[in-house]
Amino acid sequence: AEGGNRFALADPDSDARAISRHHLTHHLPAALRGAEFFIEYQPLVKMRDGSLEGAEALVRWSHPRHGVLGPDRFIPLAEHTGLIVPLGRWVLREAVRQACQWQVRGIGGARPLKVNVNLSPRQLHHPELVEDTIAVLEEAGLPPSSLCLEVTETAMIRADENELRPLRQLADLGVGIALDDFGTGYSNLANLRRLPASTLKLDRSFTQGLQRAPADPVDLKIVEGIVSLAHTLELSVTVEGVETSTQADQLRDLGCDSAQGWYYARPGPPERLPEAV
Ligand code: C2E
Ligand code: CA
Ligand code: CA
Ligand code: CA
Repeated sequence: AEGGNRFALADPDSDARAISRHHLTHHLPAALRGAEFFIEYQPLVKMRDGSLEGAEALVRWSHPRHGVLGPDRFIPLAEHTGLIVPLGRWVLREAVRQACQWQVRGIGGARPLKVNVNLSPRQLHHPELVEDTIAVLEEAGLPPSSLCLEVTETAMIRADENELRPLRQLADLGVGIALDDFGTGYSNLANLRRLPASTLKLDRSFTQGLQRAPADPVDLKIVEGIVSLAHTLELSVTVEGVETSTQADQLRDLGCDSAQGWYYARPGPPERLPEAV
């Protein structure tokens, strides 16, 4: 299911998971019709002054029997069945509507808050991505520059010119494009130049070595190198998974532009975002 050249070792509860995968896949369409999905928002913070910059929309499934399920449980299934297209469209519409409300209420002060929305590879390949996104923005009245679409590095580097064109069109309109989970996808670094990205989101695995002082000097050098490369390419750098003040301080000193993580705030309901200012 994950494509060629992969293998996985069976784990003890794989049978239980297999049943629930089948069950979950079967119930996804009804869950979408029945509005069982909801979105939590996790603050994105400007490192320079600690101000609130926006939030990432993270989808959850409130399953009537299994409780709240995280995206790792159902996004791969939705991707596999194609349901990710209507689900992703719902997340986009909902998140854009939410961002508009924050802006109308003046949350975040002078700078309008942004919202980040994750895009699956399947959505990237959908012919109506550009039209749909423009329609959603116009319907809500949100400026394109207040939306950032996150696409994983792996999905971006696999995309050919035809598949990158829609992202380029959206970028030309002012929509931000973030290279998500950067560092896990083995990019040919020179290739970064051809991607229509405005932000590089450094994967959590790179910042883990900086959680406690003294940090691993090699980890520090690696982050420093990535930040300097990104800035040379005029990409801003957002770091994920910041859990401690030690990490936050070091990443700020290394020149990272924005941060996200439990140190600032966990994902939560949209009403809680103003408290994160
Ligand atoms: P992601 O895009 O890398 O999102 C960040 C994940 O890290 C989130 O997990 C978030 O809750 C978690 N996180 C945030 N701060 C910290 C921290 O300080 N420490 C640790 N250990 N974790 C932290 P979550 O919400 O379970 O989402 C998992 C993945 O599911 C996301 O990874 C994203 O790839 C995907 N996803 C979520 N919502 C959507 C969606 O609407 N559409 C699509 N296509 N994918 C989504
Ligand atoms: Ca993301
Ligand atoms: Ca990420
Ligand atoms: Ca990640």
